[in-house]
Amino acid sequence: MSEISIEHVTKRFGTVVALDDINLDIEHGELFFLLGPSGCGKTTLLRVLAGFYTPDVGHILNAGKDITSKPTHKRQAGMVFQNYALWPHMTVAENVAFGLRQKKLPRQLIEERLIAALESVRMEQYANRKPNELSGGQQQRVALARALAVRPRYLLLDEPLSNLDAQLRNEMRMEIRRICKENQLTTVYVTHDQKEGLSIADRIAVFSRGRVEQVGTPIDIYKRPTSRFVAHFIGESNFLEGTVIAEDGSFWTVSTSLGTILGVQSDDPTPLHPGDHVFLSIRPEAIRLRGEYIDRNAFEGGLIGISYFGEVAHYDFSCNGVNLKVSELNPRHLEISMATPSIANIRPEDVLVLVR
Ligand code: ATP
Repeated sequence: MSEISIEHVTKRFGTVVALDDINLDIEHGELFFLLGPSGCGKTTLLRVLAGFYTPDVGHILNAGKDITSKPTHKRQAGMVFQNYALWPHMTVAENVAFGLRQKKLPRQLIEERLIAALESVRMEQYANRKPNELSGGQQQRVALARALAVRPRYLLLDEPLSNLDAQLRNEMRMEIRRICKENQLTTVYVTHDQKEGLSIADRIAVFSRGRVEQVGTPIDIYKRPTSRFVAHFIGESNFLEGTVIAEDGSFWTVSTSLGTILGVQSDDPTPLHPGDHVFLSIRPEAIRLRGEYIDRNAFEGGLIGISYFGEVAHYDFSCNGVNLKVSELNPRHLEISMATPSIANIRPEDVLVLVR
């Protein structure tokens, strides 16, 4: 049985359909991400899970029990928001213990849970400080400790790292994963930052306009997107329109303006036929510029632009009138003259044939 089941949930605000027939199962102890562009419905779903909104249609189950109409304070959900919402006049300890005091738990138990929560976010030594005496990352930890202290059945995080600088974000996201896994907490994490999702999620649901576009592990979502929307939203990609020519073993040959290309169909179950109009998605890092023909997909062309970023270079490569974005770690093509032709080599398994 799943820890959280979202069944046919629809939520409208006037004429806006914020959630359109959402179905998701989230397992016990899973770190599950809701990822998507602004306005796609992520926060609305989190608020439905928190009990702030009641869906117009559908049900929310927690460990098999219908909690759709259960008020927030009876749901045993821990929540952390973008702005942390710590009480400025209370110390760290008072903030973290607040929910426990509300529940009127015995003093000894409050003390034990307070210490355990502060230890789990490594903030024991800051117990007597006020929030304004803490860094952004430390305040974030206190907000997490406060959510953990009440021993929630599940944790809801809404863009919890958006106020932190890039380095602190990197550290804190690994910390969040550690805390969730150590406490075996089912966690639903909302963000529009794909790196946050790819680096720590167990699974990701990619949202678009109130609907789930795809659910999968970070590798599924990045390597095997089932639509142009997902391939475009997660990472960068070159897209080519084409027409299916034939099946060739485990590959499909597709006619495009770049030339005939061999590719694989993504996990989309739509059957392919010769003559079908399709889109090819090729990641920039899957294209290797070499002086020779190596892969079954190999096209001669020339560099028309180079952007150097130290560990990586981004090239613009022109071939048969098509511009391809190419990226290379530990760049070696920088000295190549723009006039020297190169061959863009692409493995067929790195070319995704998409129907939509
Ligand atoms: P962001 O990343 O910008 O926070 P989001 O994916 O979380 O976006 P939601 O906040 O869930 O998106 O909003 C989904 C849609 O519902 C948007 O079109 C939004 O304008 C609309 N919406 C959200 N809350 C309300 C509300 N209380 N009243 C009216 N419309 C709302």
